[in-house]
Amino acid sequence: MENTLDRMRAAVLAERIPDANVRRRRLDALRRMVKENRGEIARAIDADFGGRPGQETELLEVVPLLGAIRHAGTHVARWMRDERRAPSLAFRGGRAWVRHEPLGVVGVVSPWNFPLYLCLGPLVDALAAGNRAMIKPSELTPRFSELLAELVGKTFEPEEVAVITGDVDVARAFTALPFDHLVFTGSTAVGRQVMRAAAENLTPVTLELGGKSPAIVTNGYPLDAAARAIAQGKFLNAGQICIAPDYALVPAGQEEALARAVLAAAEASYPAASAARDYASVITARHRTRLEDAIAEAEEAGARVLRAQGEWGGRMPPTVVLGAPEQGVLMTEEIFGPVLPIVPYGDLGDALAIVNRRDRPLALYAFAKDRTTQRRILDGAISGGVTLNGTITHIAQENLPFGGVGASGMGAYHGRDGFRRLSHARAVFRPGPIDAFALLRPPFGRFAEFAI
Ligand code: NAD
Repeated sequence: MENTLDRMRAAVLAERIPDANVRRRRLDALRRMVKENRGEIARAIDADFGGRPGQETELLEVVPLLGAIRHAGTHVARWMRDERRAPSLAFRGGRAWVRHEPLGVVGVVSPWNFPLYLCLGPLVDALAAGNRAMIKPSELTPRFSELLAELVGKTFEPEEVAVITGDVDVARAFTALPFDHLVFTGSTAVGRQVMRAAAENLTPVTLELGGKSPAIVTNGYPLDAAARAIAQGKFLNAGQICIAPDYALVPAGQEEALARAVLAAAEASYPAASAARDYASVITARHRTRLEDAIAEAEEAGARVLRAQGEWGGRMPPTVVLGAPEQGVLMTEEIFGPVLPIVPYGDLGDALAIVNRRDRPLALYAFAKDRTTQRRILDGAISGGVTLNGTITHIAQENLPFGGVGASGMGAYHGRDGFRRLSHARAVFRPGPIDAFALLRPPFGRFAEFAI
């Protein structure tokens, strides 16, 4: 690892600022790598998950990644342009501008839930910004990680992009390297450790973490439509999505109806004949046990647990929980699985209070017909990003920053925001013919008006 980083650092100094053509060439190589191997990539992820539909990998990983590469390739030359700024009043006649320069070597640490998109999404922004990168994929997707290492090895020079595979010890050593920037995607708990390790080197971090993203259904919004959107966002990848709706808030008295509608939506999306093909597995037996234990804990405390009917082929069925205790695992930890607690609220203020007394979530979903209510929710509850009257899709907007706030992370990326995040905004000033600063040279006795 250290050798690879040393070689990259030397290459950074030799190259300094790659022009737009070089960056586009790297992005294009990445595009071809993904396009030509998309089938093999989907099969590796399917095997790592013990069952993950190829369509999910295609729709949720390959397509958005190719979109991000195309978007960066189209706009990078414009993003790179120096930005002129007005000089301060006293320095009129001079010139001030910002250069967006590469940072150098960016480290990327990724989780297992979207291994392709979360390893290579940050890479797109890193390459667009003219950086080199080292990527550490998750140890829980070993087949994918080996394939990625092999493909990247064939596509890039070792001092352009490198993949480091290995377990948590390797991850720890990786995050202790003196990168110029570290992009970490994963849990909040590990995010804290990563930031601590990076602090030793004063390496700036972008932390893309998790949290409990609420879905607020408001009075008067069609329950079926909200249920379909919530079920889609919750049960894709079997709920193992950082921005999956974690729990749903619904006006008191409607929780039963919402539960039935969510289960009906799940049953419609995963009919018996295709459920085992279209529905993902929970990644490991350990993760599954954690979820089952959390459900059992809620049930023992009096909660009602409803499971979607169907042929789940041994996979964990879409599950809804009514009356989950406030202090139990389901309502205190990020669920990250196909389990949806439904929580009743009195008035909208109560719903916002339920959101705000928890850590700041990565996403927030609000189902509200009128703009006033939408605005009240946007103003009243804090989150990383928002989709109104839907779920998930704010992440797919190439022109929007993606990231968390508070415990759900810091620093957003994607598109131009990602380019900026992984660039150094370098200030340059060149005085004009009359240099105000030079006029102020001592001895100060000349400036009676400044005497104090
Ligand atoms: P994780 O935090 O357990 O692991 C993520 C990565 O960190 C892995 O590559 C792992 O090898 C590495 N790692 C583990 N321990 C480490 C340590 N002590 N020091 C340095 N690196 C270490 O997360 P996970 O279980 O793989 O993923 C699930 C979590 O990721 C959820 O909380 C989810 O919300 C979050 N997530 C966030 C986003 C986002 O964009 N914000 C996207 C996907 C997942």
